[in-house]
Amino acid sequence: MAISNYRRFLEEQQMLYQTILRKMDPNNVGLNVVCPTCGTESWILLPQENSYFREELQICCPAACGHYSSIKNFSPLASPANRAFDQEFICPRDNTEFKTYGAINRCPVCAIENPREVMNTCADRVLASTSIQSDDLSEMLGSLVSTFDGVMRQCNIIAIQNAASLHSSHPRVRSFQDVATAQQTLASLLDISKYVLSWPQFLETFQKRHALSHNLGVIDHKYVDKTGVSTSQVGKKVQLSKQEIDQFANDCKGIVRGYFAHFLS
Ligand SMILES: [Zn+2]
Ligand SMILES: [Zn+2]
Repeated sequence: MAISNYRRFLEEQQMLYQTILRKMDPNNVGLNVVCPTCGTESWILLPQENSYFREELQICCPAACGHYSSIKNFSPLASPANRAFDQEFICPRDNTEFKTYGAINRCPVCAIENPREVMNTCADRVLASTSIQSDDLSEMLGSLVSTFDGVMRQCNIIAIQNAASLHSSHPRVRSFQDVATAQQTLASLLDISKYVLSWPQFLETFQKRHALSHNLGVIDHKYVDKTGVSTSQVGKKVQLSKQEIDQFANDCKGIVRGYFAHFLS
């Protein structure tokens, strides 16, 4: 197709898009939609220009359940957003504005999810803190581990869905709390240990979290087995430094970014 023909084709597509949009949402107030697969209600304000549009207006479920089909299947109803959703988002790529439930979402237009943003928000809050109080450090570590685990489990679910749509498969990781096992499960496809400064140190910091949440912060034999520290440490309390927590925050970001780039984008 010559360039001018292609340009005309794109212009026609944009006009068709505008026509469909105006018919559904004449006053440009946004659309309430209900996912036909997961039943989640969301609200979306579609952009005026849509470079992904071809022939039919198709969207992804904003709650990232994996459903993708004609917007007609989402029972679109023109309405301002009139309920309290868990999150609001404006896609930086295509300016789609949307609100939905849950923590991990997917832009209904470009289909890109937000796990990196969720991990970065948590990690950046930790990095910005100046406290070196042990209770605060322990709390920061707790929030990093639980965010990392939650975000990576969602990434894993999405990677499995993406692989299935390509008639392939991706290993299920039910928990990233046991990050050593998770690393081994994924290793044949992607070695997540390469995204951290020091994998043994990352594992040890993770193990400190286990000790803090299950053993009053005291080192036991399991801790020694998992980290390889000297048995002379048994019975002593784990020590955390701000520098270690900051490195852990950056390592968590690195793994989420690497995993996302490999399987989700
Ligand atoms: Zn859905
Ligand atoms: Zn988008």
